[in-house]
Amino acid sequence: MNIELSLVLGFEVDTINSVQFSNHTGYQHFKGQVLNDTQLGDLLEGLVSNGLDCYTHLLTGYIGSPSFLHKVKSVVQHLKTINPNLIYVCDPVMGDNGKMYVPAELLPVYQEEIVPLADIITPNQYEADLSVRLLSGQKIASKEDAGAVMEWFHGRGVKTVVLSSTDLGAEEELVVLASSISNGTKDKFNTHIPRLPVNFTGTGDLFAALLLAWTHRTNSDIKRSVEATLSTMQAILQRTLTEARREAGDGKPLTVRHLELKLVQSLEDIRNPVSRLPPPPS
Ligand code: ATP
Ligand code: MG
Ligand code: MG
Repeated sequence: MNIELSLVLGFEVDTINSVQFSNHTGYQHFKGQVLNDTQLGDLLEGLVSNGLDCYTHLLTGYIGSPSFLHKVKSVVQHLKTINPNLIYVCDPVMGDNGKMYVPAELLPVYQEEIVPLADIITPNQYEADLSVRLLSGQKIASKEDAGAVMEWFHGRGVKTVVLSSTDLGAEEELVVLASSISNGTKDKFNTHIPRLPVNFTGTGDLFAALLLAWTHRTNSDIKRSVEATLSTMQAILQRTLTEARREAGDGKPLTVRHLELKLVQSLEDIRNPVSRLPPPPS
């Protein structure tokens, strides 16, 4: 998914599929292969041999084993020695809605080894909770708690923290919070978006990929980046839901199949998200 998006927004992308599955794991069954750390090392070695290891950005998402995550750490470190300005966007995929869906041993590896290398991090509320529990033993229950967890990430060197969704607003809303440090100044803000009454799969990946693209395109203007990202997200998800209801037929239950994200149908919303902000000063 990230690759098509990035091409539309003008990025050339090399993709490493850490898994290759028949379908996403929201379906009842899936079959396929999982890349291991040695195989990841082989791919990097091939790039290095040809001098192809110079990248402007690196984005990582779901990683299912500590050995693979360790290898990712060495890949990030290597790519940062080749391009010290490389921006590493880490989506620390560990769980959602109170449940961890990776082995528990991944948490300390993220916290101690990966987070200090990340420039931008995009945890959802549960993933942010996992960190705040270290601080206070509590879950995130307020915007102040969310602020504290964003500070925790800043304290480890992460310049931009975006909590991709939280339940800190009204019932029918999602709240997205962001905090970003550039040139010594901190920019913080939050925004409330309507919560659609279904569970989508792949929204976290889409969010991280869009945010990467828009931080680059807005020269790290975090407010505009999150705005553009959410504008595209809302358009895609609304279209997905409308089409799913149409495909299922009046009032019938929606299946995982119906709710596959309507990306191709949304190219214009990816290219030109409608902004609710005034234009930037020229
Ligand atoms: P995933 O469940 O795919 O791993 P995630 O938990 O990492 O995703 P979320 O924070 O749930 O990511 O979602 C990312 C973005 O997707 C949110 O900022 C929001 O814009 C959009 N989104 C996801 N689900 C909904 C929903 N039900 N209604 C409205 N927007 C949604
Ligand atoms: Mg979620
Ligand atoms: Mg996520």
